[in-house]
Amino acid sequence: MENKKELRTWLNKMELAHPLVIAGPCSAETEDQLLKIAHQLKNTDATVLRAGIWKPRTRPGNFEGVGALGLKWLQRAKEETGMLTTTEVANANHVDLALKHDVDILWIGARTTVSPFIVQEIAEALRGTDKTVLVKNPINPDLSLWLGAVERLHTADINNLGVIHRGFSAYEKNKYRNNPEWQIPIDLQARFPDLPLILDPSHIAGRRDLIFDLCQTALDLNFDGLMVETHYDPDNAWSDAAQQITPDTLDKMTVDLKIREKVGNEVEYTNKLNTLRTKIDVMDHQLLDALGKRMKIADEIGTLKKNQNVAILQTKRWNEVLGKMILEGEEHKLSEEFILKIYKAIHQESINHQQKVISS
Ligand code: PEP
Ligand code: MN
Repeated sequence: MENKKELRTWLNKMELAHPLVIAGPCSAETEDQLLKIAHQLKNTDATVLRAGIWKPRTRPGNFEGVGALGLKWLQRAKEETGMLTTTEVANANHVDLALKHDVDILWIGARTTVSPFIVQEIAEALRGTDKTVLVKNPINPDLSLWLGAVERLHTADINNLGVIHRGFSAYEKNKYRNNPEWQIPIDLQARFPDLPLILDPSHIAGRRDLIFDLCQTALDLNFDGLMVETHYDPDNAWSDAAQQITPDTLDKMTVDLKIREKVGNEVEYTNKLNTLRTKIDVMDHQLLDALGKRMKIADEIGTLKKNQNVAILQTKRWNEVLGKMILEGEEHKLSEEFILKIYKAIHQESINHQQKVISS
């Protein structure tokens, strides 16, 4: 992807407001449902209508999409509202059908990006067209796999490309359905600053109350757009009910979101500062997360020591840890004085945790 500037051209050509807002239901359910949502979205900031026609489900037995029939509904929604349309394609047959029905933007889903064979098949099916394609990150936190999919499309002469950050699956569940792992899109941006980057807060969050904050973080990190699952009756959606919001909520949200403007010296300074501060916030979050996990391990050690009737403080082990961390700190350009201070504090907190376990 040497000639990266061209990657941004489609976004500029569309002359859509910044950020690009893509909205619509997780799944097209019925013609009425899709048209109703499209009309409700028409007067919001959303300029592209999304709807899943073929739904890749992790487990069988869930709604798997209405299939090709839904493409006609998307076409009709486009005619009636003037919105652009987008849907997920997961094989060459989907691509052919989507092209026949004039879908404006195709996206490749997280479960497809993981498979170079299928991405290649899709790339071949698209060769010779000027379609815009958005590539969702793979399920697993692997930047090369994500970029590899983009490269396969680019090699097939697809130049209108963008990426969608939808979070990464983790075995250990936390408040997110898919962890944002912001460091990965931040790295991607550093390597390909001209590749349009869109946030899918819905699949990261898995629940609607987290969507606003995710969108604000993304805008502070200079993302180019948002793709938000939207339904007039979210609770009764046939798929991903907990994470969908109404077109009305989307409208209010885009008013409240702070969008960093892109002009002027002072604005540029503030933008840069905000971006850097958001990166620091991401790091702080990771630090606390790691510290929390470290203390949980200390608790387990506490239980072991209690069962064995062993003293909490093991001076020899502590000196070893400290020595190792001072050396490792040097590699990261962290002074010995700093390492001593933070490790004394961490060690003290560990002891407190173990004491609690032992006296319980
Ligand atoms: C979707 O956008 O509805 C979808 C299935 O997303 P993902 O591929 O990110 O899971
Ligand atoms: Mn969905």
